[in-house]
Amino acid sequence: MISLDMLHIGTVPLTLFAGLLGLLFGSFLNVCVVRWPALESVVKPRSRCPQCGNLIAWYDNFPVISWVVLGTKCRHCKLPIPALYPLVELAVGLLWALAAWHYGPTVEFLRAAVFGTLLIGIAMTDAREYIIPDEFSIGGTVIGIAFAFVGGALLWPQALIGAVVGFVLLWVVAWLGAKMFGQEAMGGGDIKMMAMIGAFLGWQGVLLTLFLGALLGTIIFLPMKLMGREKLVPFGIFLAIGSAACWLVGPALIKWYSSAFLGG
Ligand SMILES: [Zn+2]
Repeated sequence: MISLDMLHIGTVPLTLFAGLLGLLFGSFLNVCVVRWPALESVVKPRSRCPQCGNLIAWYDNFPVISWVVLGTKCRHCKLPIPALYPLVELAVGLLWALAAWHYGPTVEFLRAAVFGTLLIGIAMTDAREYIIPDEFSIGGTVIGIAFAFVGGALLWPQALIGAVVGFVLLWVVAWLGAKMFGQEAMGGGDIKMMAMIGAFLGWQGVLLTLFLGALLGTIIFLPMKLMGREKLVPFGIFLAIGSAACWLVGPALIKWYSSAFLGG
């Protein structure tokens, strides 16, 4: 297994560096989340205020800090900048710092940080527009498999099988759902997202994620449906939460299950 150990970085400097890097990735994620569903480039044009259209200068574009310095308002039109932007930056920064702290200078740190960033991106686009951009799902599948080849904890056969199982299983579930309920319960975005999750968590992770996601989705959406407030279900959010839980407690859960019920 390749290790970043040879760089001789202490845990504290690595955590700080990862946190700063995470803030920048969070800032970039905000751009991706708005532009990818609209099929726009994330490189050009430069960032503009969504309200007045003025270009955002580089000195007004620091993660979190600029939002505080500017008094949470745009420099030009003085309209408020939604708190969601700095919150996403903070969340991704924290995620990267925690992953660095927990895993140290290893490939597993990068794998955890990238996976979490992808999940946050997917949850946001699915919540806003019921869209899971291919950049997150298909791009994420490729990245997940690539990690397996450079020394991630998941070996490459596991990553490949995970991706295939995720895709095929969700495709079957979506097909059955459409047959039984006569309407599309799950979209292609969910199917491709599940391939990504399989590439990061393997086939066991796919099953556990699907179980946790369906459980969570039922608990939250069934009451809404019964109250007649039926809406399109952004199932990707529940899959994102389910797979994050699976990363954190999945191995322990599978071990407990097999010793409690399978005698293994
Ligand atoms: Zn403005």
